Amino acid sequence: MSKIIVIGSMNMDIVNHVENHPQPGETIKGWGTAYHPGGKGANQAVAAARSGGQVVMAGAVGTDSFAGKLVSTLQDEGIHTDFILKKEGTSGIAFITVDSSGENTIILSEGSNGKFMPDDLVRIFGMLESGDIILAQNEIPWQTTEYAIQTAHKKGVHVILNPAPAVKVPKQLFPLIDTLILNETEVEAITNTPVPDINQARMAAKQLNESGIKEVIITLGKNGSLYRNQEGLDIFTPSFSVNAVDTTSAGDTFIGAFAVESGLGHPIQECLQYATAAAALAVTLKGAQSSIPTREKILAFLK
Ligand code: ATP
Repeated sequence: MSKIIVIGSMNMDIVNHVENHPQPGETIKGWGTAYHPGGKGANQAVAAARSGGQVVMAGAVGTDSFAGKLVSTLQDEGIHTDFILKKEGTSGIAFITVDSSGENTIILSEGSNGKFMPDDLVRIFGMLESGDIILAQNEIPWQTTEYAIQTAHKKGVHVILNPAPAVKVPKQLFPLIDTLILNETEVEAITNTPVPDINQARMAAKQLNESGIKEVIITLGKNGSLYRNQEGLDIFTPSFSVNAVDTTSAGDTFIGAFAVESGLGHPIQECLQYATAAAALAVTLKGAQSSIPTREKILAFLK
């Protein structure tokens, strides 16, 4: 079975609920502070692990009191954590405030995620084998992600990139990317063209394929997703109609689940269907990692 190496972020999400968001200079009362391990890298790793993948996490935590929890949460999911480094200082922390209408504000303090450098990948790249998959996002320094893509490609490792938060991926990297998975905002950042509908998404995917990316998946929230590859195969997968209560981590769940299915060599339609079901289940529950479904649950949903 191919290994899935997630090269990315781990954050402690600190969530506070308030009646109304404070004005500058104002101190207000909050209630119900909660601590949830998160970060795009960690969320995608958890999604892949719950889908049955053999997952290795590479990234950095700090030397603060959150570090242990960030690592042990991944270990509890069966994720290999030997390649998580400790960097002096704080771990990545997302300060999230939610008001009574559900509107949130987020301050993302990158902490140790911002200290994970290309040199930190040397040891993990020593154990990569062709057939493995690397899964990268954009919550660690771009130079590290770029180095990971270049080195993985040289070793014949399948590269999946989720350029989130939105980043302008340099064109010379396109031919090194096997699968680019991105939402509408991220497509716009890369192609400079908004994708208000499926036809625009088709055109953007075609443009990205023609610029060198082997396969592109544009996720369109509740409108589903569009897959296109360089051979011109084009698959639209509608989302499942579910009672959506919290769409946080829909994308991360889709990506982690897709990585496992594609690593198993299943036909692309089945991989897309599986990932779409995983994401649909995730939006039916509150929270990020807590809402990510297991393989068993996804397969039962698809029956
Ligand atoms: P996030 O940043 O919140 O993790 P994203 O913007 O990266 O999400 P989306 O495009 O919103 O990702 O969603 C990914 C996939 O999740 C969609 O392609 C779809 O299959 C599924 N999905 C999202 N929202 C819904 C919904 N309301 N109902 C059912 N499925 C959904």
